[in-house]
Amino acid sequence: MYLSRIEMTGFKSFADKTVIEFDQGMTAVVGPNGSGKSNLSEAIRWVLGEQSAKSLRGSRMEDVIFNGTQDRKAVNIARVTLVLNNEDRYLDMDFSEVSLTRTYHRNGESKYYINNEAVRLKDIVNLLLDTGLGKDSFSIISQGQVEQIFLNKPEERRTIFEEAAGVQKYQYRKTEAERKLEKSKDHLSRVKDILHELS
Ligand code: ATP
Repeated sequence: MYLSRIEMTGFKSFADKTVIEFDQGMTAVVGPNGSGKSNLSEAIRWVLGEQSAKSLRGSRMEDVIFNGTQDRKAVNIARVTLVLNNEDRYLDMDFSEVSLTRTYHRNGESKYYINNEAVRLKDIVNLLLDTGLGKDSFSIISQGQVEQIFLNKPEERRTIFEEAAGVQKYQYRKTEAERKLEKSKDHLSRVKDILHELS
């Protein structure tokens, strides 16, 4: 699996539809200061489910939408699609190409799609769990993060190994199962109360 294409419209400085094709192997993105290199890596993290506006260098999520320039009006929607080459079926989907899309409207409406079908963020997170591609995985290392790894507490550093070893998926599922169990316990106790009242 590899990222073969990214399409951005209305995302940060990419007002017009911008399509960038990637080949297998190494790609370097070069350009003058302020030309949008970091915006490009943020677009990737954004589609993968980044929820923190601050970590996208904004103060609210609306800041990812192109907010206009001196001679260009702002737009209302940001849309980014990542196209992943999945010929090796690394992602658990029987498609040679898998596209992940996120859109965000100024009215706060946020949508996610897998292969153009509307999904929940949870579906994207599930699809990417332990693939090394999630928003918190180490496929994207931002400036300062390498140093941060050395400064981390041992428990925080352990998550790096857990991600690499593929156990995060099970921890995520365990938390989900525990949450459902708690909910079921609540329901059960309510049923018991009702039965008590009836008897
Ligand atoms: P450097 O090499 O200095 O790190 P860079 O190539 O990484 O620069 P970015 O930081 O990606 O550049 O891009 C910064 C540019 O993006 C700035 O000109 C900024 O005005 C523009 N920009 C950021 N958010 C928006 C937005 N919502 N609408 C329009 N332009 C934006």
